[in-house]
Amino acid sequence: MSFSGGFADLYREVILDHSRSPRNFGRLEGANREADGFNPLCGDRLKLSLRVEDGAVRQASFVGDGCAISTASASLLTEALQGLSEAEALALADRFRQMAAGEIHPDEAELGKLSALAGVRAYPMRVKCATLAWHALRVALERRGEVARTE
Ligand code: ZN
Repeated sequence: MSFSGGFADLYREVILDHSRSPRNFGRLEGANREADGFNPLCGDRLKLSLRVEDGAVRQASFVGDGCAISTASASLLTEALQGLSEAEALALADRFRQMAAGEIHPDEAELGKLSALAGVRAYPMRVKCATLAWHALRVALERRGEVARTE
């Protein structure tokens, strides 16, 4: 097995793990920021819920029905957000979107485990699956009260 092949396998494992056993899946008690997301190209739907206190994300969870990529991305998002300030969460969403769109290299993006989703860069349809939860995050934090759509 080549070195780079090993990384590809690791990434695939992270995505499979998080799509089969999504973290923070379910309703969130005391949520004070919420947004629905819909990706019409794939049919992915989710509701992202956050509990924000003193300007920081204390807890995040999601419910929904989507493909493996959208589910894994939402699951990884809920883990990555814990404890971040709202500004940090929005900056993370920007870096993630840029990485998924191929605008910045995964190494530059410093996204840790979220880099597992870098492979979508080669597949425009999959980029929408991977970024759905992050669109919802932006809508939730900006309290725009609309459905986040990838289109
Ligand atoms: Zn999808």
